Amino acid sequence: VSPPPVADLLVRDIGELVPLGASVPAWEPPHGPEERWPPRIRDAALASGGGHVLWCGPQADLDNAVSISAEATHVSAQGGLITPGFVDSHTHLIFGGDRADEFFLRLRGVPYRELARSGGGILRTVRETRRTGAAELLSLARRRAERMLEWGTTTAEIKSGYGLDLETELKILEVARRLKDETPLQIVPTFLGAHEVPPGTDESTYVEKLVQEMLPEVARQGLARFCDVFCERGVFGVEASRRVLQAAASHGLGLKIHAEQLSRFGGAVLAAELRATSADHLEYAAAADLEALAAAGVVAVLLPGASLFLGTERYAPMAEMRASGIEPALATDCNPGTCMTESMASILFLAVVKLKMSPGEALRAACLGSARALGLADRLGSLEPGMQTDLVIFDVPDLEHLVYHFGVNHVRQVVKRGHLVVSRR
Ligand SMILES: [Zn+2]
Repeated sequence: VSPPPVADLLVRDIGELVPLGASVPAWEPPHGPEERWPPRIRDAALASGGGHVLWCGPQADLDNAVSISAEATHVSAQGGLITPGFVDSHTHLIFGGDRADEFFLRLRGVPYRELARSGGGILRTVRETRRTGAAELLSLARRRAERMLEWGTTTAEIKSGYGLDLETELKILEVARRLKDETPLQIVPTFLGAHEVPPGTDESTYVEKLVQEMLPEVARQGLARFCDVFCERGVFGVEASRRVLQAAASHGLGLKIHAEQLSRFGGAVLAAELRATSADHLEYAAAADLEALAAAGVVAVLLPGASLFLGTERYAPMAEMRASGIEPALATDCNPGTCMTESMASILFLAVVKLKMSPGEALRAACLGSARALGLADRLGSLEPGMQTDLVIFDVPDLEHLVYHFGVNHVRQVVKRGHLVVSRR
């Protein structure tokens, strides 16, 4: 018999613990109004050692489950809710300037394409990011990363894509690397050189530059874990997207794709063909697209904040997604043009109201689904024993109240890798 593991962090007085985890059965439509999914533990405790979960269960069983180090940190959840830390699996967090004026012009009826033609849109943020120095970019991004942590996000994917030249794309990815060293936020960097065709060139010339020059240098410096492409009418076609993603795969990068956001265009089928880790957006995906993605094991990263912010009211087809068996993830899409928020709690609210997810389904997508979208589900997104101790203590009695009482920050404390990194009130 091996001795019980030694805990260096104990969280007690948990009103409701939602551990999620691979052992939790898939969501099914509720059989009655009282039924709640996924399983929760009431009056719970959690023990962590060396940054990993050792045990969680009813508080009455804690003393028999672990031995406790004399130097252990003791935290009371004061009857609140505990979930795994949010994993924000799709953001464009590093950028210069903002596009607040465009937001209001669009609300007054000016279409996005017209704004883009008159110097707005992605290319405006590209100009502003090119002229912003690395130190300034880092300080802007640090504030956003701190805001993410304060709202319960413990891991975030960050895309480049506001440079569209080698120098600026490297500058953005270098800022992402420094951000990882300067904040407790865990960061997964993605190269999105194929975000838009830069001015003064055409698609095929730029794709050659991406494949011959930019991708090899990003890979050589180890600055990205994934490569992403904005596959859309008027941006990058399916053939160009395939060429960029195949080159990325040959450099050992994982694959992501912005697919079926503004029209049904073929990005989802390409993601399935290339066995991408995730296909993101999918507002215009059809049942056949979803079946192809599900069969290839591609995660669907859903971004309801962008639909709301753009005023399209076009959301990903959740009922068809359930039928296809695809794994959904949720993310903010945090960016200055189409969704200006760092708050995953707001995205949970939108997922329930607009995508018609259940609260449990939305939480699973925001934690475990998003961890899968980053290839990190073996250590993130659940609080089962052995997982990284990334958790959030909320000042609400249960998961339903976290979603229902929207627009305010209920976070009391955040733990990352077993360390208390946020303490509010
Ligand atoms: Zn995006």
